[in-house]
Amino acid sequence: MLHPLVSTLLDRILQGGALTQDDGRALAALGREHTTGLLFAANAVMNARGRVSFTCSIINAKSGTCSQDCVFCAQSGHYRTGSPTHPLLPLEELVERGLAMHAAGASCYSIVTSGLRLAEDEIERVCACLRELRRRTDMTLSASLGLLTSEYVRRLVDAGLSRYHHNLETARSHFPAICTTHEYDQDIETVLLAKEHCLQVCSGGILGLGESWDQRIELAGTLAELGVDTVPLNFLNPIPGTPLQDVELLTPHDALKSVALFRLMLPEADITVAGGREKVLGDYQSWLPLAGANGMMIGNYLTTRGRGLDADTRMLEQGSWI
Ligand code: SF4
Repeated sequence: MLHPLVSTLLDRILQGGALTQDDGRALAALGREHTTGLLFAANAVMNARGRVSFTCSIINAKSGTCSQDCVFCAQSGHYRTGSPTHPLLPLEELVERGLAMHAAGASCYSIVTSGLRLAEDEIERVCACLRELRRRTDMTLSASLGLLTSEYVRRLVDAGLSRYHHNLETARSHFPAICTTHEYDQDIETVLLAKEHCLQVCSGGILGLGESWDQRIELAGTLAELGVDTVPLNFLNPIPGTPLQDVELLTPHDALKSVALFRLMLPEADITVAGGREKVLGDYQSWLPLAGANGMMIGNYLTTRGRGLDADTRMLEQGSWI
């Protein structure tokens, strides 16, 4: 039986209403015995909005030596992680990988680069790649290139970009513990700039950075206020050499409960689960649709390997009834 609070708030969402952060915090505070009820509610919300499953793929187009000090990140130049570093890949490689992911069934291809923002010549190469893929595929073309300027975003849109990815990473109240080299408001400004230029916005964060349940709800609330289209949720996979290397992994329970809470706070958004899902969820990955996720990153992540396209595709096909 559903807890009365879950039942009341589920009704409100199904009638087109929204949850406040207070509602979210009250749901997060429910005991473990109510988690399956939360998953049920999240699944009901996902199915009511009409589940459109999608899969996205990324290319680590420029890796490492980042000037920023994000404490979870293998690519920060502040830590010795042994993670591969390379400058922006040649145009041919960016295009070939996009075509390969299109052939593998990805509905979205995202060009991801390390660093606070790209240089002029790098933006031009990304634009050339977008133009070529726009001409040859019908995939959603996305990019994650750090902070935007008005001029860069205009050029990217003209080249065929339809979506911009920029994570807030965590709640504003937790951000100073995660990054000291830029401001939370700079990330918010980039999200707003992408929206102003009519790009779909993909913005989420990483769970398991030492944030509280209230801070998870705070992040979900901020993303809801910004009206982002897609929320990628990552689970921390601690990287040796980073300050978070010894942090304990989230449990499958906490990870699934978090996904369900994001679904309830953001009923209209696509919620996709990306990095860390294999490590944190193990056999429970197949519960993600039950928890309200309707998307999944396939292939490899930025600095860690995924479990393989075949296994992911099979899981999505077999679970399409959930
Ligand atoms: S998360 Fe992005 S900005 Fe932060 S260190 Fe990693 S690559 Fe740099």
